[in-house]
Amino acid sequence: MTDVLDVAIVGAGVSGVYSGFRLLSTNRDQRVEIFEGDDHVGGRLLSATPPGIPNMVAELGGMRILPSVQPRITKLLEELNAGTEDPAELIETYDFPVDDPDNIAFVRDIHLRLRDFEESPGAIPYNLSFQEEGKTAGKLVLDALEQIVPGITSKDLTEADRRQLAQETSFGGKPLYRQGFWQVLMRVMTSEAYQLAKIAGGYQSTLSNWNAADAIPWYLSDFGVSPDYKGFKKGFQQVPLTVAQRFEAVGGVVHTGARVVSFEPDGEVVSLKLVTSTGRAHRPCEASDSGDAPSRARAVGS
Ligand SMILES: Cc1cc2nc3c(=O)[nH]c(=O)nc-3n(C[C@H](O)[C@H](O)[C@H](O)COP(=O)(O)OP(=O)(O)OC[C@H]3O[C@@H](n4cnc5c(N)ncnc54)[C@H](O)[C@@H]3O)c2cc1C
Repeated sequence: MTDVLDVAIVGAGVSGVYSGFRLLSTNRDQRVEIFEGDDHVGGRLLSATPPGIPNMVAELGGMRILPSVQPRITKLLEELNAGTEDPAELIETYDFPVDDPDNIAFVRDIHLRLRDFEESPGAIPYNLSFQEEGKTAGKLVLDALEQIVPGITSKDLTEADRRQLAQETSFGGKPLYRQGFWQVLMRVMTSEAYQLAKIAGGYQSTLSNWNAADAIPWYLSDFGVSPDYKGFKKGFQQVPLTVAQRFEAVGGVVHTGARVVSFEPDGEVVSLKLVTSTGRAHRPCEASDSGDAPSRARAVGS
């Protein structure tokens, strides 16, 4: 058999294995192989069982989805489960509450439960204004966003409505799309409330200084109005692992421990240079069409 592939995919993260599966699902006559530098499939979706806690799955990368704003993965799960005959292999999700009163917050060396923000405001080690006291980190930001774009936290709006509203709104005499998120937040929150929201909100980067008209609807979709997340009972990594199995079932090949260090024209093919666990290797990949320059070979990156 020739060593030339039709498609080489670099990386067996969820996008690499999904691309391979889709390519082979539409045309099984192709030779499609995936080259993964690491020793596992899944990339940034990595789930582990901690030693001594066999019933627990620890997520070392992605941990949850928000079906209302991630329709593609939601549809993929339905499709994968519909093609599963063994119930033990179903990808099952569970409700992943982010605002449970028992959730732990550890701020400025103080251990708190989420309920303390509302029930024991004196225990919160931040110098908040009287309007800010008694609110959780999420509520502080929601109230600030409502002041910046009145009406945007209404549950009746769709994500598209909120995006449009933010694009059309001016704040302090300037369109929001010309301002930074941090700048507008700091006009309606005290610095202490901003610091608390940043540290107790879980993700510092979301409140950093990106475009305010993009950030506000994004924040509300991901954290704000109705954040009904789902976690994965067997870990998020089950998704790329299942897709990889389906890819292999239709003739695809996944190589782990095979890092692509470069790809170069080599006659009518593109030759992939790999560093494998067993040393360097070369892998040619056929150009997309014999008349094309080899640099247009269908190597897919992820
Ligand atoms: C800490 C963390 C938390 C997250 N939380 C969530 C969440 O809760 N929900 C959510 O939906 N998303 C979350 N994400 C984002 C999500 O994990 C990523 O969007 C998704 O996994 C990206 O998939 P990918 O296939 O595009 O890339 P990756 O998963 O990064 O896969 C790329 C693969 O390519 C391989 N590779 C790279 N270069 C080469 C090379 N030269 N040769 C061979 N192989 C190579 C890498 O080893 C890797 O396996 C989180 C990410 C992180 C890091």
